[in-house]
Amino acid sequence: MAQKFRRIGVLTSGGDAPGMNAAVRSVVRSAIGRGVEVMAIYGGYRGLIEDDVKMFTERDVSNIIGTGGTAIYSDRCLEFKEEPGMQKAIATCKKYDIDGIVTIGGDGTFRGAMDLTKRGVACIGIPGTIDNDITSTDHSIGFDTAMNTVIEMVDRLRDTCESHARCNVVEVMGRDAGYIALQTGIATGAAAIALKEIPFDEEATIQKMIKMKEQGKRGFIVMVAEGLEGYGPVLRQRIQERTGVESKYACLAHVVRGGNPTLRDRLLASRMGDKAVDMLLAGQSNLVICERKGDIVPLDIHYALTLDRMYKGKLKDGDLDPFTPEQIAAMEEECAAKRAAFSDLYDIANLLSK
Ligand code: ADP
Repeated sequence: MAQKFRRIGVLTSGGDAPGMNAAVRSVVRSAIGRGVEVMAIYGGYRGLIEDDVKMFTERDVSNIIGTGGTAIYSDRCLEFKEEPGMQKAIATCKKYDIDGIVTIGGDGTFRGAMDLTKRGVACIGIPGTIDNDITSTDHSIGFDTAMNTVIEMVDRLRDTCESHARCNVVEVMGRDAGYIALQTGIATGAAAIALKEIPFDEEATIQKMIKMKEQGKRGFIVMVAEGLEGYGPVLRQRIQERTGVESKYACLAHVVRGGNPTLRDRLLASRMGDKAVDMLLAGQSNLVICERKGDIVPLDIHYALTLDRMYKGKLKDGDLDPFTPEQIAAMEEECAAKRAAFSDLYDIANLLSK
């Protein structure tokens, strides 16, 4: 088959995540290895609008596999969502003969990729966000690193909580998703985890903490997900008043967005980057590369975004119209399985926090 692509682009967009650089490196080297040129598009979709692009060689991605952030920068570009901005982006693709783009980011980035594909620039998305809030993939790039940073920080807080017989209420990122709070809560032995997906029983938590204190427990960690918007400081005060345990509040915020990616994130990024190039050069587009049960597989972006809205309870009228009853049933089954797995993990967290 005659190769359709001579040159592709790569960009990172939306919130940055550790491992994005490893993904860029993988895309660049995988494409060049297959005889295709790669242009880096700086600052996400803004780089396309403002003609901020650069031809990359293998050397341009030297020594970035282990660095956090994104070396080709990221941005939230509202102009890209409007038709004039989109036209400028397409003009830049034409100017440089960029026939396809690998876009690394979250669901917003994938919507942009879908828009570009519709207008003739083939796009494939790679999930890069610490929040792990992309339903179609078991893990997104950056999630593992962010969680490892959280447990390092919280282990330190535990040391001082234990010394002073204190409680520390810790708020962690994740936007509306509680994956980081849930998994790091288990991994740090949190006394309780408050997140948006499952109703939080504050009274039961306080009673449990009173009992644990009576039994001699000194230090407490309570994880709170960002999605609960401002609940952390409120909970800290209530715990202190009701349990008599001196309580502090810590918001880890963007600290966990940076830093060197873990092995898992470097590997995931390397595999996904290669798969994205593979698919693009095979003439495919409008796909998001996912990790599903350990395999790296492509999924239609529209399907992935609809599945995501279904999981988050955000489906709008007509969203399911393009899909067959079998596809809708498969989506419902996947959402139910994902909710059940989340809930099982939450039960384990409760069971172990004694
Ligand atoms: P993330 O990709 O992490 O979800 P955003 O939601 O901020 O982050 O999206 C990143 C960028 O993708 C936006 O700044 C914008 O340029 C583009 N984008 C987001 N939503 C859309 C959309 N509905 N249509 C076209 N482009 C979009």
